Amino acid sequence: MRTPIIAGNWKLNKTISEAAALTTALKASVANVSDVEIIVAPPFTALAAVNEVIADSNIRLSAQDVYSEDSGAFTGEVSAPMLKDVGCEYVIIGHSERRQYFGETNESVNQKVKAALAHDLKPIICVGEQLEERETGQTEVIIEDHVTGGIAGLSAAELLSCVIAYEPVWAIGTGKTATPAQAQEVHSFIRELLTKTYSADVASQLCIQYGGSVKPENASELMSQPDVDGALVGGASLEAESFAQIVKFG
Ligand code: PEP
Repeated sequence: MRTPIIAGNWKLNKTISEAAALTTALKASVANVSDVEIIVAPPFTALAAVNEVIADSNIRLSAQDVYSEDSGAFTGEVSAPMLKDVGCEYVIIGHSERRQYFGETNESVNQKVKAALAHDLKPIICVGEQLEERETGQTEVIIEDHVTGGIAGLSAAELLSCVIAYEPVWAIGTGKTATPAQAQEVHSFIRELLTKTYSADVASQLCIQYGGSVKPENASELMSQPDVDGALVGGASLEAESFAQIVKFG
């Protein structure tokens, strides 16, 4: 019922020529895939070049962040209309690295989500607990805080233009993956939360991705969980072969 979404977050990697080469190789490897939404999220500088390579392909373009204002005196920022103009369909918002290093909060995430939606960009909203929070039994409190804070004020239709990515911070870039059961537990918690705040129908339609050291070896097992609808992939998306294998998890 829900189409799996596999997104590659390239973070602070790839020059324009490297990004174009990676995308060219990926495009060839996944050309026959039609049952998965495939997304790449290059750095801002490579968006235009990657957009040219993916024209008429089954790969969609995402940015890694957006600013909440459309224009003005905000040096260094990039707005939703600019991302739309360069060909983005999606934008990652609230990644844990932005929360950790750049002071992103639930409030700023929510403002960015609204700015993205106002310009027809689909937000991929990242939520996730730190290791200490998991170890002290706070996972659900943190997830509820991130989810409700990030989507505050959205209509059901707006929510359904979003993707939620559950990314336990302790699993990002560490090689430690959540077990399929751990991922399923949190994904199902998020769906229950949305059932309470929206409806069972809305919650059942929303795509919830897992992120955190997803690799070709663990993708299939994670994605076989009933509430895991895809993956947000960091490290393993930097090579066409490993990302293509994850895309073809089924
Ligand atoms: C990420 O950046 O969202 C991520 C999950 O990274 P990695 O796959 O490298 O853990």
